[in-house]
Amino acid sequence: MTEPAYRLGRLPVYPFAALNQRVRELNARGLDVINLDVGSPDLPPPENVIAALAESAAGANTHGYSGYKGTAAFRASVARHYHERFGVTVDPETQVLPLLGSKEGIVNLMLAYIDQGDVVLVPDVGYPSYSMGAALAGGDAYFVPMPESMGYIPDVDAIPDNVRRRAKMLWVNYPNNPTGATVEPGFYARMIEWCARYDILLASDNPYYDVTYDGFLASSALQAPGALDHAVEFISFSKTYNMAGWRLGAAVGSAKAISALLQIKSNMDSGHFQPIYEAGSIAFEHVPRSWIAARNQVYQRRRDRVLAELPHIGLTAATPKGSLYIWGRVERGDGAQYAESALTAAHVSLAPGEFYGPGGKQYVRFSLCATDQRLQQALDRLKTWYASQ
Ligand SMILES: *Cc1c(COP(=O)(O)O)cnc(C)c1O
Repeated sequence: MTEPAYRLGRLPVYPFAALNQRVRELNARGLDVINLDVGSPDLPPPENVIAALAESAAGANTHGYSGYKGTAAFRASVARHYHERFGVTVDPETQVLPLLGSKEGIVNLMLAYIDQGDVVLVPDVGYPSYSMGAALAGGDAYFVPMPESMGYIPDVDAIPDNVRRRAKMLWVNYPNNPTGATVEPGFYARMIEWCARYDILLASDNPYYDVTYDGFLASSALQAPGALDHAVEFISFSKTYNMAGWRLGAAVGSAKAISALLQIKSNMDSGHFQPIYEAGSIAFEHVPRSWIAARNQVYQRRRDRVLAELPHIGLTAATPKGSLYIWGRVERGDGAQYAESALTAAHVSLAPGEFYGPGGKQYVRFSLCATDQRLQQALDRLKTWYASQ
């Protein structure tokens, strides 16, 4: 049998795919594994969004190809949303591109920009698709340290000159997965200035701007001066509106980056199902802030429940103001050992911190995407296991 491509050898199995397989095997043996690894919202999307999908899908004229750039109406609603939510004005024709989920756009942006020998600056720790996308494109990911002592922001001054010279792109993500760290608007201004100085594209992955706690309001990289010349931002309906399975997102920002991404995508996909775009516009225009606030209250309560138990299960963590995760520092052993014991002895699946880069070795990540009852059950099991060893 002929062998798959060389590029596949540079691409490890997606870490969550391997973990899911193990959880399935344990479940098949009759064990009840509580899944706190992946960040897939368990709460439903807004009702009017589902109704809009159903109504549009029942129509006769919504089933054809919708266009490589999605519909003009959806692009316009993304532009309006940026204006209302962030005070940023973008041109819906040249600075907005709908995506089939933001993960797709993240990887395709690297296919559009990265050649062999190019460097992608990825945060250590960060979402695995940044380094995987760099590898798929034939480039090299360079893990930029993001020390806890600096508030989990990338220490760009620590990047060696020879690496920086080969770098074409810098990824940032706040509110952050996996650490829960957040930033103030001044951070983006500093990153844009740094990227402009060295001719690097700032790629801001921003799926959690409306998943925040304690009254924190997250900002957009595009609010920084000069951002529309040096940055592209990715947003997603997955976490904002509990629509992860719908696969809807958008890239917004630099017209040059948007057009490069479109060139790749138009050769690869043919846009989304029109009813999904229509439902997405309803989400932006007819879901009140109170719906988002009430949903965030649910996550905040879960966050506090997990934080309260950490001292009893050998972990310490900062209190996140955003994202869906608790980033727990392991006191005894390392993150991989902790996650392995949690899975085999307590039947709780956590994400080992090393999934997110070498800097995550000492950590495990809890997802808040489980009911309060399931979450408490998981914490009780972990407490019993931890006390017994
Ligand atoms: C969930 C997540 C995404 C992917 O979102 P989709 O739009 O569902 O593809 C991207 N980046 C980060 C950091 C995430 O946590």
